[in-house]
Amino acid sequence: MKHSLTSNTIARLRLTSQSVFALFCLVVGWQFYQFYLWATSVSDRVAPQRPPAVEAFLPLGALVSLKRFVLSGEYDAIHPAGLTIFLAALFLGLFLRKGFCGWICPVGFTSNLAEKIGRKLHILATIPSWLDLPLLSLKYLLLAAFSWLILWKMNLQELSSFHFSSYNMISDAKMLHFFLDPSLLAGSIMLLLMALSFVVKNLWCRYLCPYGGLLGLLAIFSPFQIKRDQHLCIDCKRCETVCPASIQITARQTVRNCECIGCLECLPVCPKKECLTLSLPGKAAAPPLLLPTLIIGSFLLFWLVARLSDHWQSQIPPETFRHYYQQIQSIGHP
Ligand code: SF4
Ligand code: SF4
Ligand code: SF4
Repeated sequence: MKHSLTSNTIARLRLTSQSVFALFCLVVGWQFYQFYLWATSVSDRVAPQRPPAVEAFLPLGALVSLKRFVLSGEYDAIHPAGLTIFLAALFLGLFLRKGFCGWICPVGFTSNLAEKIGRKLHILATIPSWLDLPLLSLKYLLLAAFSWLILWKMNLQELSSFHFSSYNMISDAKMLHFFLDPSLLAGSIMLLLMALSFVVKNLWCRYLCPYGGLLGLLAIFSPFQIKRDQHLCIDCKRCETVCPASIQITARQTVRNCECIGCLECLPVCPKKECLTLSLPGKAAAPPLLLPTLIIGSFLLFWLVARLSDHWQSQIPPETFRHYYQQIQSIGHP
């Protein structure tokens, strides 16, 4: 055997991690839907629990909160879980590659599933490199636009004005409403993207997600890198065939690439012992399981610390959320 871990072990571990987080998100979605139904109705039954983890799906609000936190020292009291999850993802990006994308994010998991189905149905197309590069820039353009608007343009007063706006109070409900009752245009775009995900490998993550773009830029500085020993490599390209991020591993000795999600799937398929390794600066090779252990462990640690230090549950009482949710049709973007 070339590697102490088989490709099945890595793939199974990743699938388990992604499935558990995806299942958790489904439960969170269901709980939030129950809360939304309660808050938008006139019933006098006791409020169901509003799951804080739903705030993971408000990344722009989290970026506003982060800048506001840096400028004022005030932690987001309305959507604290959103800021905590965003900080955790940034931490993972900086130190543990795009581990959030590879092992945790349910959207990435869904994208992987669509790709597998497309492959089975033989409808998965290969994007030519002349088109791949411009398409790759789309998520960075989106990221640049959001960064310019929030990080560059908004001062503390504007950030606070958004933060305390009615819109921010109901941004989670707005998001749910968007998916439950999309406009014709939004619904058509969503259906088109879903359909294309079966045909274009990793469509959303590779080309369109600015969140992943940001994590990829941070991952350039990550101490964990996949290294290839060019003297041992026989150029069989097995690593490239399994790489979900379509990285040309054989074109480099160190995979310092914004697209690498730290999935480790390239390691066990390499037929040459110690040719492909997970490396840390100053160390020949790190045990492969160290990376997913740190990714999942750190993510859960952020959650635990936030819970224990009261930075997880919103300080807004359910009745106040209800008051604003009932005006959802009339509240627009500030
Ligand atoms: S690129 Fe975006 S959607 Fe895809 S896995 Fe990463 S954060 Fe999730
Ligand atoms: S280079 Fe290896 S670890 Fe990085 S995305 Fe590709 S298969 Fe995964
Ligand atoms: S699988 Fe190993 S030997 Fe084959 S091309 Fe990749 S690094 Fe080289």
